[in-house]
Amino acid sequence: MKAHTYTPIDIPFNFRHTCWFCGEPSSKSLDFPRKPSRYLQHALLSIPACSECHVVNYPNGLNSIWALRAHIKQAIISRYTKHLAIGENWTEQELIDSQFSGAILGGFGKSAWHMYNIAKQRVAFEGWLISVDDIPLDIIDDTSGFEFNGTRYSSLSSCIDFYVDATDVDKELLTQIIDIVSPNRFEYALKIARLNKRISNHQREQIIEEIHTQETEKQEAEREQMASSNADLSIVDVAISGTVAPAFAIQWAIEHGAHSLKELCQLEDDYFDEFEHLGGTTAFLSYNGLQLYLNAREEPNWVEAHDPNKEAWG
Ligand SMILES: [Zn+2]
Repeated sequence: MKAHTYTPIDIPFNFRHTCWFCGEPSSKSLDFPRKPSRYLQHALLSIPACSECHVVNYPNGLNSIWALRAHIKQAIISRYTKHLAIGENWTEQELIDSQFSGAILGGFGKSAWHMYNIAKQRVAFEGWLISVDDIPLDIIDDTSGFEFNGTRYSSLSSCIDFYVDATDVDKELLTQIIDIVSPNRFEYALKIARLNKRISNHQREQIIEEIHTQETEKQEAEREQMASSNADLSIVDVAISGTVAPAFAIQWAIEHGAHSLKELCQLEDDYFDEFEHLGGTTAFLSYNGLQLYLNAREEPNWVEAHDPNKEAWG
């Protein structure tokens, strides 16, 4: 009878006796997959694992070691939600300051941060590059997942589930806010959900409505800004008598209503406050160029014939 052959992965010296999945001490070898599968993208592998990762049940049909890792990480997150929640609900200093006492709470104060750190590190541990006989496994990690705050979740919805369990936020509210603001702004959505934990359906609708309005307004403002900054791009440098009035200076003059030399003089201090970061000489030269430019603009014929920015002045 021919048993399947599992090839042990290479183990770097400094990772001897380390679980490849979570970084805890390893005592076992995990043979993956349990049965050869035609979906598998690489050889049958034998991977060092701690006893806890070793027993995680996984579905048949996982096609790579990366898929297995994502599955095991998610199992760790689910199992240690309470520990991971400590870091979501407390800071280390708050725990020290809380002066929990008594048999149960006293122990909580002392060990809570430690437990949180262990769970967090296990989830974050990235293993080492997989190779067999010094040949790297040339299968790329194509497991899609969702990463937030340094933790990789197997999906956006498992990240939401974690925060619902860990911080008791309203799942419906969090999900709907993310739908509106996109998963890129998970932190913002979470913040709002945390401020509104126990809410009625009516309150939830109101919050969603407000966020919706706010986002729509924001997008409109961004569109307008884009449109106006595109217009600004059409402003160009103008050279007068060998001195240049730079586009940024002209734009500033337009924005601040300095239409004439006289109006500019009244805003001189503002101008130098705004551009002092350029250094004294550059700021002065640009101001000087702007003066010459505005002086030239007092002559309508010059504007008509020579000012490339006449449209921008409206
Ligand atoms: Zn492990």
